[in-house]
Amino acid sequence: MANVRDELVRYGKKIAQAGLVAGAGGNISARDENLIWMKPSGFAMDDMTPEDLCGMDVDSGKQVEGQNRPTSEVNMHLAIYRSRPDAMAVFHTHSPWASGVITAGVELRPMFAEFVNDLGRTGTVPYVTPTTQGLADAMGEKAKDCDTIFMVNHGVLAVGVNVKQAFYRVLVVEDAAKSFVAAASVGKPIFFTREQVDEILSLDAVKYRTKMMEEGK
Ligand SMILES: [Zn+2]
Repeated sequence: MANVRDELVRYGKKIAQAGLVAGAGGNISARDENLIWMKPSGFAMDDMTPEDLCGMDVDSGKQVEGQNRPTSEVNMHLAIYRSRPDAMAVFHTHSPWASGVITAGVELRPMFAEFVNDLGRTGTVPYVTPTTQGLADAMGEKAKDCDTIFMVNHGVLAVGVNVKQAFYRVLVVEDAAKSFVAAASVGKPIFFTREQVDEILSLDAVKYRTKMMEEGK
């Protein structure tokens, strides 16, 4: 696997290019054995180097690498890694379209196959003040059975078995929000039924695609 810090820096740029954060907003991290590498506080996603990242010990929560202070949501990231041993990456964005739709009380649901293919289990967490232990606890708990989490009055968070999966998840949520707004502005959005979702999930093509995603580096 490519160096975890290099990968995080590379994906930080992709997140910024995709318009999923503004300024120094949002935060990303990835697991490297017992260390969690995190975006430093006050840095924009597209303006950090591997040396800028902060290495946190997942068990103690203490910073053991890097000179900068970690993202203010450090405890939220740590809580998720602790409740999800399979999590190798956690990407949190303040995606404008998705945040708007989520905060209007709309639960994003599948309208297209990508939503079903890529997002895993989805769920919503009500507003909790950012950077607090209360938010860290709520997200750690929600991540036990959700891979993509909609955060009211805040944004989106995706757990991935690798950085690519976490990135695709935040990307697909933003597209789903845009499509929802487009559909709702001209008519009534039609969502997939449970049967349609199950049928997509049972396709060999979808299983293969997920396997490639999860085994790819
Ligand atoms: Zn945030």
